[in-house]
Amino acid sequence: MAVTQGVGLAASALGWILTARWAEKLVALASGHADVTGDLGPKGRPCASLVQLNCSGFRMTDLELLFLVLGIVYVCECAWWAKRGSVGFRTWLGLRWRVAQPGRLLGNQSGGVVFAHPLPPLGTLLVGNPWPLSVSTEAVLSYVPPGIESAGRGSHASDFVLFEQVQRIEAKGKKVQVNGQFLLKAASPTFALHIADTLQTLRQARVSERRQAIEKLIEGTYDTKAIKERWAQLQKETAGPRFMANLLFAYLFMAAPSLIWYVGLSACWIWLALALVVCTSIIAVLFHRAHKHLYPRAEDERFTNFLIVLLSPASAIRACDLISRPLLERFHPVAIAQAFCTENTFLRLAEGFLRELRYPAMPLCPRPEPAVQTTERYACELSLVVLEKFLRRNSVEPETLLRVPLPSDPTCRSFCPRCQAQFTSTTGVCQDCGGIELVAFKVEPTKTVPITNR
Ligand SMILES: [Zn+2]
Repeated sequence: MAVTQGVGLAASALGWILTARWAEKLVALASGHADVTGDLGPKGRPCASLVQLNCSGFRMTDLELLFLVLGIVYVCECAWWAKRGSVGFRTWLGLRWRVAQPGRLLGNQSGGVVFAHPLPPLGTLLVGNPWPLSVSTEAVLSYVPPGIESAGRGSHASDFVLFEQVQRIEAKGKKVQVNGQFLLKAASPTFALHIADTLQTLRQARVSERRQAIEKLIEGTYDTKAIKERWAQLQKETAGPRFMANLLFAYLFMAAPSLIWYVGLSACWIWLALALVVCTSIIAVLFHRAHKHLYPRAEDERFTNFLIVLLSPASAIRACDLISRPLLERFHPVAIAQAFCTENTFLRLAEGFLRELRYPAMPLCPRPEPAVQTTERYACELSLVVLEKFLRRNSVEPETLLRVPLPSDPTCRSFCPRCQAQFTSTTGVCQDCGGIELVAFKVEPTKTVPITNR
């Protein structure tokens, strides 16, 4: 079970323990075995609180504590731990899509947090990934071709296996194993299943057919028609859960507190709890149905998330995220941007990937063996060819995305084609990019206008 799923279950357990404590106190109050010691609500009725926390003059009732826990759990549920290399696409009203990449502030070398829109209509978060392995006709290398998150490239253990040595390929959670040995940790369990299935198909193909199959695989990651079809399917499948999730949000954060404040918890707690159970149960059932239609083979993930949605109201509100995030994970982020985002966003993202593929950071390959280097080179070249073909299909000439920058200062004589840092010498290498050779400016820097003054 993933850490986030464990946290979700633990938080929901805490919420239910607090709820149980109230129920116990209310029963004691009703039977005359306890006194009301908390605040009084309007009209002199005992409010929700029966016990207060008193910390240096700051008082928090049990009810306030529960809503605080609920709020914190809900914010955590809006957060998605994105693996470096994955690119998120989020929208709030479904009209405008933005690229959301894992942040550095709330992240580390392997990933970062991306937040979904927390308020109704709760928005949608989709995820795209470049194909995460280097695959050639002979072998598989767990070293991802360059992407906009170059840090993600080096995080792999760079395991290498020849197809002829492969006997067994399986997905266990997010991990893909070959012959029982760890090969790769994918962005999600559904993506790990897809990778394992794809490798299995490639392994079974004849060597002469494998090249075509690999090309088809990489080209398939840019299939915008399939992306739009999947999106239409998602909208159809999540209409019910989305309506119920918005209803639950309104109920939990607006209707329930108002009702408790107005009539008092003792008068309505049983109805509130009952409505909560009914709502989360309906969402859990709808979630299970939609997930089964969209990801029929992800049974383990479905069962775990079904339990979490059933037990945690905050998770139930975000149930659509659990359905939408794996939807497009097998497609390339540039293709998703082309399908959903504005022209500028699409071109900016395409430029990032194109620059990394044209000028990958050094060292190009983590291992010196010729077979490993051949596999890495083949995967890199194929990724570049397919991306350029896709761009031309969409009337974008790759060269126009890689324009030479203007010197930012009269003393600048060259620049790094990868990170675009500028240097005062005409020759040399960019150390930040592992030793990429600098490109000299063709124009005299003194005759150009600095970017900052334009
Ligand atoms: Zn550089």
